Amino acid sequence: MIRRDFIKTIGAASLSTSIGRYHNEGKTHLISFSFDDGFKKSFNRVAEIHENYGLNACLNVIATAHLPNFKAIDEWILPELMGDFNNWNSLIARGHEVMPHTWEHLNLTKISEKKAKKNIDKCLDYFSTHLDGYDDSKAVYNYAYNASNNDLDKHLLQRIRAIRTGGWIVLNDTQSNDIPKPKGKMKLGCQMHFQPDNCDHWIEDQVNTYLSSKGGWLIINLHGLDDEGWAPVSTKYYDGMLKKLMEEPKVSIKAVGEYLS
Ligand SMILES: [Zn+2]
Repeated sequence: MIRRDFIKTIGAASLSTSIGRYHNEGKTHLISFSFDDGFKKSFNRVAEIHENYGLNACLNVIATAHLPNFKAIDEWILPELMGDFNNWNSLIARGHEVMPHTWEHLNLTKISEKKAKKNIDKCLDYFSTHLDGYDDSKAVYNYAYNASNNDLDKHLLQRIRAIRTGGWIVLNDTQSNDIPKPKGKMKLGCQMHFQPDNCDHWIEDQVNTYLSSKGGWLIINLHGLDDEGWAPVSTKYYDGMLKKLMEEPKVSIKAVGEYLS
């Protein structure tokens, strides 16, 4: 079920989100496939698939996953699978988008606020010094587990452009479901698969339901391909789905930061 009546405004006026009527070159359905964690093999392959369609991949990585002291987070995020900032910078050079996902993949709502903010700052500082072309004013922070709260959202949006967290689809206001016009600081929601198994069918359902709606902006949170990561999508399915969506005149596929800029 698409939650369609969402316009999130951040409390302070300086953080307000203004979404107006906006046609993205005549398209009504914006879709972003937002890949998390930073699996070396999968992220390179996702980038190649996107390149075949002239698209930029939307990739979000753990700041510390390549460092020697990084330990397995769970049975999916394993040190030996993760890429490093040389990988990410070469993908940036090819036009793809790499954004901060987390410092060490903690659920920031389950630790002290002080530690959570410190982790966020360390993550953004690391991106500033290690990711080519990184710019706070264009950055999108993608919460681990899509878990956030108002204090953390506000902390992030004082520094960066946008945050991606859980639970809703961003659309225009209730009068119109056009693609939202990016303006100011933005809090974005996304859809994610809550089971660890292959998510091909789930994506199919999400996309088809969305295509039968009036439109807006759907962000689908993914991880790896085939056998990598939480709820992987199969390479063959993903490739075929992008191909199909490219043939839909009303659909625009963009990385999140790419659209915001
Ligand atoms: Zn993650």
